[in-house]
Amino acid sequence: MNFFHVIKHLYIRKEIRRMFLSPLWNVKHVVVQMGLPVERCTHSLAEIIDSLLWLSPHPDSISLLIYSEVIIKFQFVYKEPADSVGEADSCCCSVPIKCWRHSLTEVKIDNLPCVEGARRLKALFEESQTLERIEGLL
Ligand SMILES: [Zn+2]
Repeated sequence: MNFFHVIKHLYIRKEIRRMFLSPLWNVKHVVVQMGLPVERCTHSLAEIIDSLLWLSPHPDSISLLIYSEVIIKFQFVYKEPADSVGEADSCCCSVPIKCWRHSLTEVKIDNLPCVEGARRLKALFEESQTLERIEGLL
């Protein structure tokens, strides 16, 4: 299943994320038509990706497009999450769908622009307890 939509505001506040289940939990390829280049968005690329990974917690890919052209593509590999998510994993211990932080092992990024947000993006992916490899990060 693919998700394709034009979204004006790509950032979803954490309070909202705590109140609702991820609405696109079974979407495998997230394709977002951006209205602005990433550098001109109000929120950082890391915040945008964090929000998209809440909307769709285990996508195989996220593609950001401008005028139908892929500007940045993220590809993800996961392992089976542990059966039980500990109490310490408060990020999603009370919801039935566990977040990517418990199973993401690999991230491949194509066309990452030389944004100063690369460090924040790396920090975001390093929130994964199972991360083994990031490819394409400057
Ligand atoms: Zn979690």
